[in-house]
Amino acid sequence: MLSNPSAWADAEGLLRRAHAILAVTHVSPDGDAIGSLMGLTHALRGLGKTVTPACQDPPHPRFEYLKGVHDIRQSAEGDFDLLVVLDTSDLARLGTIFLPAQHGRLPMVVIDHHVTNLNFGTVNIVEPTASSTAEIVLALLKKMGVPLTPDIASALLTGVITDTLGFRTSNTTSNTLAAAMELMQHGAPLPEIIRRALVMRSFDSLRLLGAGLSSAKLEGRLAYATLSQKLRRELGVQEERGDGGLVGTLITAYEVDVAAVFVELTSGEIEIGLRAQPGFDVSQVALEFGGGGHAAAAGCTLPGPMRDAVNRVIPRLKRVIEET
Ligand code: 5GP
Ligand code: MN
Repeated sequence: MLSNPSAWADAEGLLRRAHAILAVTHVSPDGDAIGSLMGLTHALRGLGKTVTPACQDPPHPRFEYLKGVHDIRQSAEGDFDLLVVLDTSDLARLGTIFLPAQHGRLPMVVIDHHVTNLNFGTVNIVEPTASSTAEIVLALLKKMGVPLTPDIASALLTGVITDTLGFRTSNTTSNTLAAAMELMQHGAPLPEIIRRALVMRSFDSLRLLGAGLSSAKLEGRLAYATLSQKLRRELGVQEERGDGGLVGTLITAYEVDVAAVFVELTSGEIEIGLRAQPGFDVSQVALEFGGGGHAAAAGCTLPGPMRDAVNRVIPRLKRVIEET
């Protein structure tokens, strides 16, 4: 970490001087998005700042154990003097929460760990070796000498746990474990966070996972599946988006180097989740299609219909396997 020390110092300066901070994260927020957002929000409030956390989509109910998640607004109107963007590799990924006319003139601090980050802020703390944005936020708070409370620690540990799948992914380092230990020492309940953020899921998502697994295709060492709105209706699945953990499950097969899941949204667009075994890189494919992510986990959204999205992405993924 700390690949650009002057960015860290500049970010600290902007945060210290700000009074009214708008903190935002990406659409369909995952545990790292919510955890880094709430951890930073609590910490900056502790310094006497007014902080407004916001996101286009509300947090999933699984994150209700985190203090203050209901403060996350779905609109970002207001008077601010600083914008902080968390866990987001490009502005489009903020969706409708970013209002160019109002927010475009604000100084912007970007804090992220995606290798595909476009460095679109005034100051960019982008550390691709960090397990999670939460791990970077922890390092920044320590650098600033901000005392950790159990609320800050629980939020940040949620980010670490969800982005490493409980310390199982290749982005887990000794630094990650040291961060987790420190967060536990400051009151974050690790087993409870693992259970709530990672293990428990809806019965609906299990049914979606089952249907997706039974229709998945294996072509060479590429596994992929599609989840249409029609299938969701047939299964009676209430959740409008998400893959029920399907792409993460497909990549666990010995026979698979790269996995993809195509999820049809209610808008007709297709959200694509990509996963790769160590040694393979799907982040550049996602970037080419306007998305982003990490070597081992990335994604993008393409126009429908499903068939067109599949026909564009599958040949490109087969090339990743051939050329690796
Ligand atoms: P997931 O498949 O879990 O939704 O996403 C895996 C990774 O890809 C995450 O790091 C996520 O931030 C990134 N990702 C997924 N979809 C998109 C997208 O549409 N745009 C960008 N920039 N990143 C994405
Ligand atoms: Mn993340």
